[in-house]
Order: sequence, then C-alpha cells, then structure tokens
Amino acid sequence: MTTKGVHSVTEGGMWRQSFYAPPADTQGPRPALFVDRDGTLIELVPYLCESEKMKLIAPAVMAVRQANAVGIPVVVVTNQSGIERGYYDWKDFAAVQQAMVAELERAGAKIDAVYACASHPARNAPCRKPNPGMLLAAAEDNALDLSTSWILGDAATDLQAGKAAGLPKGWLAPGGYGTRDRERAHALACDTFSVCTDNTFNALAKALNERSTLAP
Ligand SMILES: [Mg+2]
Repeated sequence: MTTKGVHSVTEGGMWRQSFYAPPADTQGPRPALFVDRDGTLIELVPYLCESEKMKLIAPAVMAVRQANAVGIPVVVVTNQSGIERGYYDWKDFAAVQQAMVAELERAGAKIDAVYACASHPARNAPCRKPNPGMLLAAAEDNALDLSTSWILGDAATDLQAGKAAGLPKGWLAPGGYGTRDRERAHALACDTFSVCTDNTFNALAKALNERSTLAP
C-alpha cells in the first residue's frame, strides 16, 4: 500500500506522498480537508511506531468519507519528531501508515495524500506544525486552494498551521489534546480565521455535506 502513489523525503525531513493525481477534469485549485493524524484520525499513542497499536477514530473516518463523497481531497499532515529523536524511523512510520490506509479502505474511506515532518521541535523547521510548510507543499503538489481549505486537528498547533497557511477555518477534534487545547484554539480566531470547537464532528459532517467541488 505504501508503494501506491509517489513519495519522497525532502532534505529538510519532510515526507511528501500523493496517492492520486488530480482528476483530469479539475479546473483550477481545489479545496482540501487537511487532517492531523495522531489524536485526530487515529488514537493518540505517544511516538506511535507499532502498527498493531494503530486504532482509527470512528467519527474522523466518517468525516473522511464525507469529504470523499463531495470530492474534497483529504490530506494528512502529521508531526513525527520521534524520527529525529531516534525513537523510530521512516520504515516504522510507513508501516503504521500502511495499516491506517488499509483500515480506512475497509471502512470505505480514502486519503489523497500524506505529509509528515520528522524534525525535532527545537529546530523549528518550516514543515513542523504550527509552521505551515506541509500545507504549502501539499498545495503545490496537489493543486489545492488553501484559501478555501479547512484543517481538522486535536491540537491548537494544527489550527495554527492552518491559519499560517491562509486557511479560513479550523476544526478542533475532541480526542487527543482537544480538551486541553480548547482555549488556545479559540484564541486563534480572527476576522479571517474561524474556529469550531463544539460538537466538531457533527458540525464538520454537516458543513462538508453542504459543500461541493462544483461550488467551493
Ligand atoms: Mg494530533
């Protein structure tokens, strides 16, 4: 499964992988749903590197399915500092991802691309959230329109990365650090960036349902 699509690891330690090319009839950049991995799409396990501990979070899977249904690409953006800390390597990361993608497929959900940043927080690398590097790279690789895209994550730093990339909205997932980061997430709201922290999965499902790539 991990051999599907093109993947590369940049010099700065960023994993860039797109599973699908934009559809041939795509006209201009498309809105995307960026989704954090740990604590959002799968249960939070610090420095997860064993695929058997990978467990999907059901409402997040539903959100992915909903995005699939309306033709909005789903892009996973995940900090993986465990790699630069030397706790595990890209091979372990790929194994966890393979399990995740397989399980998602069984649930009728697909992700379009995956970006991961291996860097240690002390380096403050451009690709490490709260910096927007992964989102910017994803936009470039997949013809995405950041100004109409959203991000779903359990940490305020996920939403912060979205805001820094010029996204108009962030959705705080309730799992992982979602409760801890509620206030911090709210504090990011401004005229150009709105934040949803209440009943997030239901609200997101409804909002996705009302969207279509034909009328972004
Ligand atoms: Mg997270």
